[in-house]
Amino acid sequence: MKEIKQVCVYCASSTQIDRLYLEATEVLAKELVKHNITVVFGGGSVGLMGKLADVVLSEGGRIIGIMPQFMRDVEWAHKQVKEFHFVGDMHERKKKFLDGTDALITLPGGCGTLEELLEAITLKRLGLFTKPIIIVNINHYYDPLIDMLEKCISENFMSEQHRQMWTVIEDTAQIIEAIQSSPAWEIGAIQTARV
Ligand code: AMP
Repeated sequence: MKEIKQVCVYCASSTQIDRLYLEATEVLAKELVKHNITVVFGGGSVGLMGKLADVVLSEGGRIIGIMPQFMRDVEWAHKQVKEFHFVGDMHERKKKFLDGTDALITLPGGCGTLEELLEAITLKRLGLFTKPIIIVNINHYYDPLIDMLEKCISENFMSEQHRQMWTVIEDTAQIIEAIQSSPAWEIGAIQTARV
């Protein structure tokens, strides 16, 4: 069994999304708190980030925000989240997201979420990050991205082995099982990074 003490959740800042994404985020937050898992997130107060924090806090869980100072300056930080790391820039933030995390969870989001996810996959390919990466494909939101990744493999821009870097689930209630069953990955992945 993998020990899951802390996870990082990448997710949307948008306030204009369908409520089914908010509901799925609520299920995720409850599941993580139920398993006593610390949640790290972008620190925002709106969209799925806000929902995630609201539910983790109301369920009595622990959540840590990581945010660049310039976002704090425009008051984007979630007011009720007590634990924050304010960092110099977006690059430092992404690095800190990965520190000490036992898994990455990606809920639907916009360009910020996509960028965070793809950087993590890139680092994993190079063996610089080895933890499970779970893509939560709520409402088939990520179908086009998953198709794109498959195209990378079918056209030999990536190898079959690279498919093991991510796990796709449809339902946030499956999160613990998905992390537990995700294939092991080694620092030595650099040896097979090239196709
Ligand atoms: P997106 O998936 O494009 O909504 O981006 C989520 C990411 O966008 C976060 O991790 C932040 O980098 C940034 N972001 C955009 N808007 C906000 C906000 N209101 N509060 C906090 N972070 C935000």
